[in-house]
Order: sequence, then C-alpha cells, then structure tokens
Amino acid sequence: MDSSSGTPYTVAVDTPNPNRDSGRGGGTNGEIFPQGANRRQQLLRSATLSARARQLTPQAPTKEHLNARNSKRFFAIALMTFLAGSVPAIAANSGGGLGVPGVPQITNVVCLSGCTKVRATTPGGTIQITGTQMKSTRLVRFAGEAGAAKVKPDLTSATRVEATVPQKAITGRVRVATVSGTFSAPSPQTLYVGPAGELPTDGELRVTDAAISTSRAFQFGVKKPTLRYVIAGGRPTLDLRIDVTGKSGEVVRSLFRKEVESGSSQTVTWNGKTTDGKLAANGAYSYVIRGADGTPASISARISRIRKKAARSKKVADPFSFRIYGYSFPLRGAHSYGDGIGAGRGHQGVDLLAGCGTPILAARGGTVYYNDYQAGGAGNYLVINLRGAGRRSQVYMHMPTPSRFKVGQKVKTGQRIGSVGTTGRSSACHLHFEQWSGPGWYQGGTFMDPLGSLKRWDRYS
Ligand SMILES: [Zn+2]
Repeated sequence: MDSSSGTPYTVAVDTPNPNRDSGRGGGTNGEIFPQGANRRQQLLRSATLSARARQLTPQAPTKEHLNARNSKRFFAIALMTFLAGSVPAIAANSGGGLGVPGVPQITNVVCLSGCTKVRATTPGGTIQITGTQMKSTRLVRFAGEAGAAKVKPDLTSATRVEATVPQKAITGRVRVATVSGTFSAPSPQTLYVGPAGELPTDGELRVTDAAISTSRAFQFGVKKPTLRYVIAGGRPTLDLRIDVTGKSGEVVRSLFRKEVESGSSQTVTWNGKTTDGKLAANGAYSYVIRGADGTPASISARISRIRKKAARSKKVADPFSFRIYGYSFPLRGAHSYGDGIGAGRGHQGVDLLAGCGTPILAARGGTVYYNDYQAGGAGNYLVINLRGAGRRSQVYMHMPTPSRFKVGQKVKTGQRIGSVGTTGRSSACHLHFEQWSGPGWYQGGTFMDPLGSLKRWDRYS
C-alpha cells in the first residue's frame, strides 16, 4: 500500500475506488477468500459461499505480503480505538448514570392537570417529574411563600413521580427527597404556579375517532407515526396539547395545536425526538390528547372497545399506540446468517444469505456517500452516511444492478435501496453488510461488528 500516508484510511481515500481489489484487510473487499488452512475452515463455515471460491485466482504474493502488514496495523488501530471507546462507557455504567448513586436526578417537569401551560399549573393540579432513580422518592418539594411546600407523591416509578400541587406552592424549581431525606438537585425547569381562575374553559373534550398510520415506525423512516383523530369540545375552536408518552406513561414530548375546529379531522405526527431534542429510545409509545389545561380527553365507547381488544390481541392495533425503532433489518424476506467479521480472511462485514432479488432496505436513513461497482470484490455497492448516529456508515454489497440512489441523495430508514445479488467476488446470492464507526467508511472510521445489532433488528423487523 501507499507508504506516504499516515493511516490505512488515507491510502484508501486516495484511490478513486476505496474498495481496492488488492487483498485482505486493506480495503473493503466483500469476498476475498483465503488459501490453505484458513480456506478449509472457510469451506466448512459457509459451504454455499465457498462453492465458487475454489475457482477464484489467488492474489499476487507481493500484494499479499504488503496487505498482511497493513492488516496488522489496521487491527492494532481498531483495537486501540475500541479500548479507548470502551473505558468511559464502563465508567458511566458503573456509576448508574451521571448522577450520584441512589439520589434521584430530575430531567423534566410537566403539568398533567389544572395546567395553564405545559409547565404552568394551579394549586390542586397535578404534575409529572421525570428523571432517574425516582422510585425512592418520598417527598416532593415545591417552592412556597413561607418556606418549602412539601407533599407525598401520588405515584412513583423508576423514571417518574406524579404529585398534586399544594395550595401553598408558588412558582419555582421542584425537588424530590428520598426516604433518607436526601434531596435531589432542583429541576432544570421552573414550574409556574398561578391562580386557578386563569384556566381555559373548553368544556369536556371527547375523541370520537382515532387511527394510527403505522404500529411500527423507524427513526428517519418512511412510515411516520401519524395519529388521525376527530375531537369534539364545548367551544367551536379548541386548544390542544398532545403528549407522546412512554411505556410507563411518562410524557416524552408535548405537541400543541391552537384553535382546532371542534368535530374536524386532524393529524399529528411525532418526529421521534424527546423534549430535549434527543432521539427517543426504542420501544412503545402512545399519543394522549389533552386540553390546554392538561386534562386528557375522554374517548368514545367505540374507540374504547377497540383499545380493549388491542390490549388482548396483537392482531388489533391500538388506535393511539405504536413502537419506534432506530434501525430496520436490511432485508425483507427469508434469510440466514453466513460469515461474520474476520472469518479467517479479514472479512469486514456480515454476510446475510437470501434469495436473489430479495429487497434490500436501508437499515438507517442518511445520505448516499458512495454508489459504485467493484469487479473483484463488492460488486454493485452502496455506502450511506447515517443520520443521527454519530457519523456512522453502512455498506451494502453484491447488488445485481446499481442502486437507484445517487451520491448525495437522502435515504429514509426502511426505504428500498436495491436487491440481493451476487455481483463482484461472491459465490451465492447474499448481502454483505458493513457498519463503520464515526466518522464513517473510509472517512476516518473503522469497521464494527454488526452481528449483534443485525440480530436485534431481525427480531422486530
Ligand atoms: Zn461478505
């Protein structure tokens, strides 16, 4: 390889096609089969893939030698990066997050009822405090005119506490205290407490129709979790607050609609981000339609029946609920797992065996970085720089024809990018899938082992 470069990555970028044909470990060579003892193991591991491998010509010895050296350097760097990356992760886990062990840490406060705004409430109203280690909460402490106003929580769970606002409470930050009397730091947000007279009067709100667009959505995905609903109230126009709540009912995001016509059909779509702008964790979420004062709207008897059915049977979709995931499995169709990372030949990805023509979907949306053909290796391949994933990349190889996506084009999670094929150095139809750490494929990142992730995505996709 090029001796003038500082790292193996710049070598690769210098060439028009970073996927050099020149040997194992050096470039993104989808299917470089080794010789000798390693090859025999390879044959045992993946009989189908190896069928044609026997016919493949071996690499020139000089190139082999150079690439073997380069490969060692490559793995040394990869290992160092791995070790460096894993140290803070271990430290953070052992401490149970960023806070002091055992002491609750508040991340958000929202009003649930008696609200004048999402963080403005009235005495007698209820609030929700979310955070970590909240289960041990025994007291909720509000600011008060003559010292703090303390109440026992109405509800506690690991991630949230609900409490009724005491009459003496005034505007200020909220704290919680554990059974041992240790107080959390004040909430990052101020809770406004005002007189009850200011409450809007929309009368009773009732949802008369509701349907969810998909019960399974992906971050940056083709299918968005859109709720279509009809709401009726005591006034011609209604001000609404639509909460997205997590599995235990915690509010992760509040969306607002002003002057909604009573009885009209409406839609609301959540972009998958929490109040602090982070991507929400994988899992189940629901829309909760509330009045501007926070009171949840009631639902019609018909919707109520559907919800009850949905709770009993997986075949019936709850009209307000959905699951969201960060990644999709990249194949839609029957498949099995072939060779993984290494495989005795510097294999940089995981081979997913599937019938020729099986649709390939983008496991994560992003921007196309590369769309090219490599005769001796990757065949028709596509590289996507991912959205919201620390500048990671994903690579799809051996497609029968070039992907229709052009360099610079945006791709959504779950969008079809091509089909399973066997172009390049490949002996059977399969998808060679790679995942690279930030800043991406031959942009400074290193290849990662995607097997664990693939198996996770496979379970729900
Ligand atoms: Zn492969």
